[in-house]
Amino acid sequence: MQYVSTRGSAPALDFEGVTLAGLATDGGLYLPAKWPRFGEDEIAAMAGLPYAELAVKVMMPFVGNCLTEEKLLDLCQRAYGRFAHDAVTPLVQFNERLWLLELFHGPTLAFKDVALQLLGRLFEEFLSRSDERLTIVGATSGDTGSAAIDAVAGRERVDIFMLHPKGRVSDVQRRQMTTVKAPNVYNIAIDGSFDDAQAMVKRMFGDKEMTGRFHISAVNSINWARLMAQVVYYFAAGVQLGAPRRKLAFSVPTGNFGDVFAGYVAAKMGLPIERLIVATNVNDILHRALRDGDYSAGEVTPTAAPSMDIQVSSNFERLLFDCGARDGAALTAQMREFDETKAMRLTNAQREGTAELFTSARADADDMAQAMRWAAEHCGEIIDPHTAIGLHGALHAELDPSIPIVTLATAHPSKFRDAVERSTGTRPTLPMRVGDLFEREESYVELPGDYDAVAAYVAEHATPNR
Ligand SMILES: *Cc1c(COP(=O)(O)O)cnc(C)c1O
Repeated sequence: MQYVSTRGSAPALDFEGVTLAGLATDGGLYLPAKWPRFGEDEIAAMAGLPYAELAVKVMMPFVGNCLTEEKLLDLCQRAYGRFAHDAVTPLVQFNERLWLLELFHGPTLAFKDVALQLLGRLFEEFLSRSDERLTIVGATSGDTGSAAIDAVAGRERVDIFMLHPKGRVSDVQRRQMTTVKAPNVYNIAIDGSFDDAQAMVKRMFGDKEMTGRFHISAVNSINWARLMAQVVYYFAAGVQLGAPRRKLAFSVPTGNFGDVFAGYVAAKMGLPIERLIVATNVNDILHRALRDGDYSAGEVTPTAAPSMDIQVSSNFERLLFDCGARDGAALTAQMREFDETKAMRLTNAQREGTAELFTSARADADDMAQAMRWAAEHCGEIIDPHTAIGLHGALHAELDPSIPIVTLATAHPSKFRDAVERSTGTRPTLPMRVGDLFEREESYVELPGDYDAVAAYVAEHATPNR
């Protein structure tokens, strides 16, 4: 399988290449040159497979000959062996129509573990082949950071620098990053928002001085391998609910558009998805883009669902590319306009293309709290604020009532205990596997929201590539 950039001028790469590259050299994001597609029989045969085996079936067409099936299975078994539930991503029933797909049974209590536990192992495998080192630089609005750090802490050939917006992540999220004791882990709290941190990371990728000395890579969902790993649980839920014979819909708490884009990929591969509901909080650029074609970034408003407090959704570019006839030159111009003015309009082709599968729903603080209470009162389920925004989308979906709607439960409620307690009166306890998080010592540096300071810190602490 070859991968092409959404901006059309970076070289095509194979799976190993895109895994190590993250962002393409032309500033674009990598996508498979074409979508592999499963027949109905192949999808039917997925029912009942253990998760790691299902993962191999779904991912093998993307991996191509970069890994043998045995090797990929071994990596998946080790990655998913760390989950606290045998099903890895169990499906829980709310009522005859609504379901919850619990994605938070990994080591750091958010869905990002599903992809990152595998990605850490892919890095190790590919780097040892080429005798190279990687400097991972990432920005996190909370959950990516802890999941990425857990996935690479103590691994050979990798350093990780994680930027988080100071004071804007929950105490559990921060401690999950800053209490990891490993010589290759560096936490940086910066003054500013997630988008400021993300902009610095993007700038570092284009900084010749940095990229000349270090092999800088990303673990944000701009990395294709992460999206690929997330496609698996759409199939897992789908076959449990009767696919390929029965259609289903998903409601996805959305920030950077990675998770819901994985659902789009699953649909392209033949899973009968009737609708993908893009659920946002008041930081609703995607809701406006999908409803009105207006992709314009406002100020970030901090909410109780911080992993969705985003105004620029990197992976949306992948959808615009795929729905815009894969015209890299046109998309480059469109994205340049957005970079300059923080606003752009979707073309008619993009609007029609996205409308086939996507709708959106926006939840404010009241909507979110109501959804949390609905889950507690009607189903005895305590859900986290992000999941509640997804559930709000599912509860208000205008869909044929015979179609099941699966809400993706993206974080364990204990990760956002204060917000959950405020809405439901119940304070969720941290699962045993998190252990003594609040007794452990934290370590991180604070830096101003200034690119040069961050670049200097990374240059001082990272190990150059060879
Ligand atoms: C990252 C995250 C999201 C948003 O996912 P995207 O792939 O960025 O759209 C939603 N909920 C939680 C809990 C997250 O950690």
